[in-house]
Amino acid sequence: MPVYDFHCHSDQSDGALSPEALVSRAKEFGVTHLALTDHDSIAGLARAQAQAIIERVHMISGIEFSSQWAGCGVHVVGLNIDTTSKPLLDAIAQQARVRVDRAALIAEKLHKAGIEGALEGAEAYAKGGAIGRPHFAQYMVEVGAVANMAQAFKRYLGAGKIGDVKSGWPETEEVVEWIVEAGGIAVLAHPAKYKMTRSKLCRLTESFAEAGGGAIEVLSGKQPVGLAENLAKIANQFNLAGSCGSDFHTPGQPWQELGCASTLPSTVQPVWKLIPHLSSL
Ligand code: AMP
Ligand code: MN
Ligand code: MN
Ligand code: MN
Repeated sequence: MPVYDFHCHSDQSDGALSPEALVSRAKEFGVTHLALTDHDSIAGLARAQAQAIIERVHMISGIEFSSQWAGCGVHVVGLNIDTTSKPLLDAIAQQARVRVDRAALIAEKLHKAGIEGALEGAEAYAKGGAIGRPHFAQYMVEVGAVANMAQAFKRYLGAGKIGDVKSGWPETEEVVEWIVEAGGIAVLAHPAKYKMTRSKLCRLTESFAEAGGGAIEVLSGKQPVGLAENLAKIANQFNLAGSCGSDFHTPGQPWQELGCASTLPSTVQPVWKLIPHLSSL
């Protein structure tokens, strides 16, 4: 039985494991088809691919782009992208600049809130990879400004808080176009995480489909009962396929462990049917 995981992170963005260790862990947890989808980065793909050959795991190239739609931060996964596409590489370079500028802004806001040295602190955790809010959260735990990562997001970094800086991100529709232009499939990531009303989520899904989106994540990690079926209905309403992934970041979080979200409802077309070399599965 194939086990698909089309959404996870390595230490090239905010994950804990190297690309090699990530692929080995995926194998351990039974994953047969894996897409590494680091935030706004493809830096880990070649190393993951090399390890996937050793581990006999089928690797699909991936990325998770940050964007905004109607003022909300929205994530779009790109699957089976051509990683040599010049427009895609330009887009990734642009996102990297946005991340660097955004990190400085987040640090400024935290400074005003009495937290010193956050830029250097977060950079140390990012280790040269795509810097993000979890790196700030790690630093804030280190200096005792908060008790844990969850509290850092709740008080400072989460939606609507001072450190939630998203003004630099491109529109969701533009990101979809980047992915399609690079021959990939654009997937609306973890739709339930945006905490939108159903009608707003449908409007987002409609613009996403019109821009060329191919699928939505019907399964993202371990979900409440009934959510997958609900999301499958939305996928079908807009003629989109369904994707699945753990959104794995770090060991010790069983609700987003590698391979934990692989069985799509039978009512939705699986996203791998849209990937030419997997479409016969
Ligand atoms: P960024 O890419 O910098 O916008 O940061 C977003 C990332 O922060 C997500 O991909 C998650 O990994 C992480 N994140 C978001 N919300 C929380 C939370 N409440 N607790 C812990 N991590 C979170
Ligand atoms: Mn993340
Ligand atoms: Mn995400
Ligand atoms: Mn993710």
